[in-house]
Amino acid sequence: MALVVQKFGGTSVGDADRIRAVADHIARTRRHGDQVVVVVSAMGKTTDELLRLADDVSAVQPPRELDMLLTSGERVSMALMCMALADQQVDAVSFTGSQAGIITDTAHTRAKIQEVRGDRLRQALADGRVPVVAGFQGVSTERDVTTLGRGGSDTTAVALAAALGADACEIYTDVTGVFSADPRVVPQARRLSRLSFEEMLDIAASGGRVLALRSVEFARNHHVPLHVRSSFTWEPGTWVVEEEPTMENAVVTAVTHDTSEAKITVTGVPDRPGLAARLFRALAERSVNVDMIVQNVSQHGTTDISFTVPKVDVASSVEVARNLAAEIGAGEVVADTEVAKVSLVGAGMRSHPGVSATMFQTLADEGINIDMISTSTIRVTCVVRADAVERAVQALHRAFELDTF
Ligand code: ADP
Ligand code: ASP
Ligand code: MG
Repeated sequence: MALVVQKFGGTSVGDADRIRAVADHIARTRRHGDQVVVVVSAMGKTTDELLRLADDVSAVQPPRELDMLLTSGERVSMALMCMALADQQVDAVSFTGSQAGIITDTAHTRAKIQEVRGDRLRQALADGRVPVVAGFQGVSTERDVTTLGRGGSDTTAVALAAALGADACEIYTDVTGVFSADPRVVPQARRLSRLSFEEMLDIAASGGRVLALRSVEFARNHHVPLHVRSSFTWEPGTWVVEEEPTMENAVVTAVTHDTSEAKITVTGVPDRPGLAARLFRALAERSVNVDMIVQNVSQHGTTDISFTVPKVDVASSVEVARNLAAEIGAGEVVADTEVAKVSLVGAGMRSHPGVSATMFQTLADEGINIDMISTSTIRVTCVVRADAVERAVQALHRAFELDTF
């Protein structure tokens, strides 16, 4: 008898019919003899709607209250799922993140899991019941309700799988697995049947939102095999697993894109040791996740520093940068929100020089200008204009011969 964690995303539980279809699948898994722990997201676009509602009500949104609001979405799903399971004669019991023993730090809206107690889930399993857990939430060490950041139900699922020693964590979504590019942008994208944690980490980090980055980190650190698959067709999807020594690595596995970041430039920064450190320290203290950083070579005693940050952090980042610029006598601080990142990810890149050159040439042939570049051992990322990013993804997917037809 295996123990599996099954997580269902927003579209998978988007309406009453979907909830009943999922309950039917869970009932089948039980009849097959396996133990199941279920994790659910909020129905459809509920989280976005709650955020809009908050915007309509107030410009001031204390993070604690925002978390209290957003966690309600997943509560609705878990209760309805237990009702649908009862209708299938499956004895199920719902738990909020707090009741499931998911303890986080106190960073509201982006909390990190510190510990998973899970006693009530173990007890429910021992009693032959199916625990249904509200994803995306926990309770802080200060006993406040917290959320784990957008897409956080994936992280809940993997954390529970690790804590309960599950045999696998199945992530059910609205596509049939992880593809060589977002299938909404590249209809010819191919489904990847097997992927290493390392590649999946870079895919998630560079915009492939099919799995939340934190969940992949958790799975790698705790050796939880992930199976990303469809709750519409139920066919086998993509396994994300530890890399095997024999794994034949493709040069480029996936082309990803990300429109969630903005670029900030600080001009005329005096060329002295320690100034970059002060800027990025100040941003880190505001919990801003700085991604790419480019500093130009100084010619006249000053330099420009550009970096990317999540769009939601633009206002606070600009404020931090303007304060510092005034202190040190730097020039302007400019924010550009009309940018996007396009990346190539592939473990085989390590041993194949020339990937970056082909990428830059492909973009040049499309007349797409590159704003910033960064590379790691298995990824190359370019910042381009937002309105050109889909064209960039399609051209690169073709250039690296990833198209299936
Ligand atoms: P869920 O609500 O189930 O968590 P998400 O919307 O978070 O679903 O993630 C699934 C979506 O991720 C897909 O609909 C797809 O458009 C998008 N996506 C982006 N990149 C990829 C990729 N490389 N492979 C598969 N899906 C991707
Ligand atoms: N409902 C949350 C979100 O939309 C969490 C999740 O779906 O994973 O981000
Ligand atoms: Mg998701």
